[in-house]
Amino acid sequence: MNVVYISIGIVVLLWIFGNLHRRRKNRNRVICVVENNCTGCRRCIKRCTRHVLEMVTDETEIHAIVRYPDKCAACGDCLVTCKFNALKLVERV
Ligand code: SF4
Ligand code: SF4
Repeated sequence: MNVVYISIGIVVLLWIFGNLHRRRKNRNRVICVVENNCTGCRRCIKRCTRHVLEMVTDETEIHAIVRYPDKCAACGDCLVTCKFNALKLVERV
């Protein structure tokens, strides 16, 4: 029985340390819009719970922009939602 508890403990610790490592790594990254690929479908905007992205319209087209980069947690949720390869995570400058 002790072996089971120890195994569960190890799995939980690995999960915690994995999450901490991912968060630390993501702190240095931010989402970026590849405007040429963006179709303005709004999927990313609906998906981001931190309201980082916004839609803008210029003379020729409508597309997403990163309005509040400081709020971005680099979670990648919007990235997996975009079907047009118009989002990428980049290093913060
Ligand atoms: S999901 Fe992709 S294509 Fe759609 S608005 Fe966002 S960045 Fe543009
Ligand atoms: S990476 Fe996460 S926090 Fe950043 S814009 Fe996308 S969904 Fe929002």
